[in-house]
Amino acid sequence: MNADFDIAILGAGLAGSALALALRGSGARTAVIETHDLAAPAKIPLRAIALSDVSKSILQNLGAWNEVRADAWPVRKIHVSEQGVFGVTRIRAAEEGLDALGQVVLASDLARALHRLLRASPQVSLLSPARATEIARHSDDVAVRVGGAGGVSQLRAKLLVLADGGASGFAERLGFRFRTTDYRQSAVVAAIDGGGEGDVAFERFTAHGPLAVLPAGGRRRVVAWVHARDDAAAVAALPDDQFTERLQRDLGWRLGKLHNPGPRFVYPLGLNRSLDMVRGRVALLGDAAHRVHPVAGQGFNLALRDVAFLSECVFDALGDPRAPHDSRAPHDPHDPRDPGAAAVLNAWRRQRMADVRRVVRFTDALARLFVMPGRPAACARGLGLAALDLLPPLRRGLVRRGLGLVPPWPRLAGERLADEHRADAQQADEQQANAHRANAQRLGAQRAGAQRPNEQQAKAQRADARLPEERVTDARLPGDCPV
Ligand SMILES: Cc1cc2nc3c(=O)[nH]c(=O)nc-3n(C[C@H](O)[C@H](O)[C@H](O)COP(=O)(O)OP(=O)(O)OC[C@H]3O[C@@H](n4cnc5c(N)ncnc54)[C@H](O)[C@@H]3O)c2cc1C
Repeated sequence: MNADFDIAILGAGLAGSALALALRGSGARTAVIETHDLAAPAKIPLRAIALSDVSKSILQNLGAWNEVRADAWPVRKIHVSEQGVFGVTRIRAAEEGLDALGQVVLASDLARALHRLLRASPQVSLLSPARATEIARHSDDVAVRVGGAGGVSQLRAKLLVLADGGASGFAERLGFRFRTTDYRQSAVVAAIDGGGEGDVAFERFTAHGPLAVLPAGGRRRVVAWVHARDDAAAVAALPDDQFTERLQRDLGWRLGKLHNPGPRFVYPLGLNRSLDMVRGRVALLGDAAHRVHPVAGQGFNLALRDVAFLSECVFDALGDPRAPHDSRAPHDPHDPRDPGAAAVLNAWRRQRMADVRRVVRFTDALARLFVMPGRPAACARGLGLAALDLLPPLRRGLVRRGLGLVPPWPRLAGERLADEHRADAQQADEQQANAHRANAQRLGAQRAGAQRPNEQQAKAQRADARLPEERVTDARLPGDCPV
């Protein structure tokens, strides 16, 4: 098969699948390439995903929320504490004016729902199981060589979205630059039974790293227990009784006696943040663009906001989806409705920069702060937690930012959400505005420069135009690799 598409998405993990669904109705001819068989049950190892209200609304509008809501558990309270230290903070949905602070779903349940919707979407061509083995970037399109059960094929698209979780190494070979930090930690994830209320999540900072406990239905919980990289495999391999005992020691008795632990899964943790997000006609999405520490449950929530805004940019670029698409000459360089055009992708990048930076800094700071050794650091953290408990406005601002309840709102999140949270967001923003006011005066001198977005855009376009045409192959896949 040699086929032409407007958009090719490489990877149907949570991020790539959500984007393909978000693009339905835009009129874009969309292809999704995925190594795993999308008709088979999703093979995602155990991982509980805490979804923010914004994410829930986006999934609702994609039709995915209805598919997972029966397997989703609300979090109405979060208890944050540090082992062996007095400071504690409690965050309650009711006090924040929310019905829930988030919803917990298993990544495998969510992936199954997204894949079911994808398979039922005639607008999306699914190449699965199939593996991208080579990418060649040209000025007018991107060519992707794909190996699948039917042999080798090539597709061309005006925009290639790399949503491969960073696993293929294509992004680096296409020239994307990354800021990386290896935290030298791994998360040991397992399900376990405990008592107590079923809608409480725990974030506990232990001597070796954070321990998150999320509700998973009834007495079941999913824990993500961070350890030094060298210790994690040994902890995961402990016999059930010893594993439970060590976990109980770290968590305490808030959930009563823990028992019945399930299989353990180990995830190495690091920060991998793309400095560009866009190069030529290639955009990065999800973990391929920014893989963050899971300490605050932000990774997929951030990816969903990227999805929502990228789909907006594509909808705007393609204009009226009822226009006769097939009558257009493929890859017409003068076609104004080009979703891979530099203007479209740079608009998306500019829109997303502040949010991405905020989440990366927030998770990175938390990851570093809570592994700082020594008693003074532990006391400082304890004081911080106590202060948060005693100062509701401070806590409120942090909670709202942590939940992603900060404008601008993607259209895909819907008007309901925007209306509900606009007043709160304005209040939180006012506090931030005060802090930035002094800076704004200083920046006054630079304002003239900032008022020339077209010039900046033209500069970015010129830089993109200078990118050489490139061809890269998946180094780990010699030759064409039928799956
Ligand atoms: C322990 C843990 C807890 C977490 N908790 C939360 C949380 O509470 N809240 C939250 O928001 N986030 C959380 N996250 C982050 C979240 O899980 C990730 O951000 C999200 O799953 C990333 O999805 P993705 O689609 O970008 O990447 P992936 O899930 O890695 O998907 C990439 C896909 O690309 C495919 N692929 C790769 N190479 C090729 C190729 N050459 N050809 C074809 N297909 C290819 C792969 O098969 C895969 O399906 C957590 C992460 C961890 C590790």
